[in-house]
Amino acid sequence: IAMYAAKKRAGTTYLHHDSAMTEPGDDHSQLREAIATKRCFLMYQPIVSLDDGRLAGVEALVRWDHPEHGVLPPDTFIPLAERTGLIVPLGRFVFDEACRQFAVWCEHYEDAPAVLNVNVSPRELREADYADFVAGALTTHGVEASRVVLEITESLALDLGPAVATLHRLRALGLRISLDDFGTGSSTLRLLHDCPVDEVKLDRSFTQATHGRAPVAAAVIQLAQALGLHAVAEGVETPEQAEQLRSLGYSTAQGYHFARPVPAAQLTEWMTGAPLTVQPSGPVR
Ligand code: C2E
Ligand code: MG
Ligand code: MG
Ligand code: MG
Repeated sequence: IAMYAAKKRAGTTYLHHDSAMTEPGDDHSQLREAIATKRCFLMYQPIVSLDDGRLAGVEALVRWDHPEHGVLPPDTFIPLAERTGLIVPLGRFVFDEACRQFAVWCEHYEDAPAVLNVNVSPRELREADYADFVAGALTTHGVEASRVVLEITESLALDLGPAVATLHRLRALGLRISLDDFGTGSSTLRLLHDCPVDEVKLDRSFTQATHGRAPVAAAVIQLAQALGLHAVAEGVETPEQAEQLRSLGYSTAQGYHFARPVPAAQLTEWMTGAPLTVQPSGPVR
């Protein structure tokens, strides 16, 4: 995180982790403190319908408002949280807060998104009471299970084995399971075969390779259709990518072309007014 802060000062936004990175000893306790004192918060990125540009869903994305370094993106602290087990309380904060906010939207806005997507780490799924926790949070906030999609990042899912039973329980509750960054894992098809899955999110490296024939994007939508899965394209940055994905058969997509992750209040404004497609998406960083 110290290295991230240095790069941020130097003008580079994202930290690339490498095994040589040294961890300042107090990052762990600072993160623990941040979770306890609610210095972690959520941004929401729209998932839009490619047919009419309407808001189809939202993905909750966590941030850490660090006392010295400012707002940190998840790639800078999720790996630390996973190694230390802090991902368990962090993930529960995220799920609870996202459900609370989603329930407010559903109650007050006709144009509320149909679904809420939340990212979950394999480590969380290995907790024996995870499905009980989820059921409790849904009841507390009055959210229908069928409107919640749990996203599992494929590249982190190597050791998903022990978590598969939890996935079955979550699905029995009515939640849906999505494979995030689809196509980047080392055993993509194995995972698709072994896990109960409802959705795949085409990784942005394939979304963005849509000039010309886009063979991977095309193959993934065919695979999804053959298996009866929903497919979402991530990381759409240009109108050409959106159009090509739509013509390939993708019904929903996400990316800076439509909207960046925004605070809940901004999404609330969009639900009361202008269609999302007229929002300026700003320069791609
Ligand atoms: P993800 O779940 O694949 O989320 C998409 C990431 O891509 C987000 O980064 C989003 O801001 C970014 N993105 C969206 N559209 C575009 C685009 O058009 N172009 C580009 N270049 N990027 C785009 P973010 O918010 O920094 O999150 C990074 C990753 O951190 C997430 O990837 C997810 O794997 C993880 N993450 C975020 N929140 C949580 C959480 O609450 N729990 C867990 N376990 N992981 C989380
Ligand atoms: Mg995700
Ligand atoms: Mg990811
Ligand atoms: Mg992704």
